[in-house]
Amino acid sequence: MTVQAAKPRVGPQLEGVLLGKEHDGMICRSCGNEERASEGYPCTECGTFICVICSLRGVTLCKECAAKAERTATPQADDA
Ligand SMILES: [Zn+2]
Ligand SMILES: [Zn+2]
Repeated sequence: MTVQAAKPRVGPQLEGVLLGKEHDGMICRSCGNEERASEGYPCTECGTFICVICSLRGVTLCKECAAKAERTATPQADDA
């Protein structure tokens, strides 16, 4: 009587949640939402995934690149 009939049922289900049911899903590096990779665009700077929603908003850079661009775009104060 050592038969273990109860198999853990969370295995495949949990895996599906962790990996995302859609193979296509990617995390947007601008807004953090998971969107379809096929509908998104790469960051123009580093090529990471930007979702289509952000693209429609005019976002072409991921958060990190946008922060960098903001710094480098800031004119130096001592141009006297
Ligand atoms: Zn986004
Ligand atoms: Zn980037």
